[in-house]
Amino acid sequence: MAQTAPRKFAGGKLVIASHNPGKVREIGELLAPFGAEVVSVGDLGLDEPVEDGTTFIANAEIKALAAAKASGHVALADDSGLCVHALGGEPGVYSARWAGPDKDFSVAMQKVEEALVAADTDDRSAYFACALTLAWPDGHVESFEGQVHGTMTWPMRGEKGFGYDPTFVPDGYETTFAEMEPQQKHAMSHRANAFKKLVAACFAAD
Ligand code: IMP
Repeated sequence: MAQTAPRKFAGGKLVIASHNPGKVREIGELLAPFGAEVVSVGDLGLDEPVEDGTTFIANAEIKALAAAKASGHVALADDSGLCVHALGGEPGVYSARWAGPDKDFSVAMQKVEEALVAADTDDRSAYFACALTLAWPDGHVESFEGQVHGTMTWPMRGEKGFGYDPTFVPDGYETTFAEMEPQQKHAMSHRANAFKKLVAACFAAD
């Protein structure tokens, strides 16, 4: 059966469903060559919806659709996290929540390590995933997922990056994401992979 072509972004205002100014600026720089004038949900005074999806794509769709419908413009949202195979994919969509109310990721990394020790396994394989959804006010969505596979290491190593980076070694490397230069991580990350798919499908000319 023939697949329908993805819907293209036609240029103009693009609402970024994130309250993180750094993320909004970076996305703006990335998509400016395609005629996107980026504004954030914060600039528009829009509320954050409840993220109760059980997959990264479900959560990205909830955020992008809420922003598109409330603003009347095309909106882009992301959702990401760490999935550890021996833990049945956890922390997964709960990656941010494992850091607790203080958002302390040394606590979250410790929890992952304790769970791996309790699971009594040699399988330390894991991946980071990033979902990106572009949503239109009429309810149409285009969603993409990027992943980067690797291994959980212990103890934590490195000061760069954020979140679970000090315990994740990507396949083919010996350093953790937190020991790499940011450009090196950005060239191979789950976010970079998801963005490549999104741009190729919805922004780049055919
Ligand atoms: P959210 O997509 O902003 O909800 O973030 C989910 C959580 O996943 C973050 O708080 C991080 O803990 C984790 N995460 C997502 N991407 C990365 C990454 O590139 N490195 C380390 N942790 C990440």
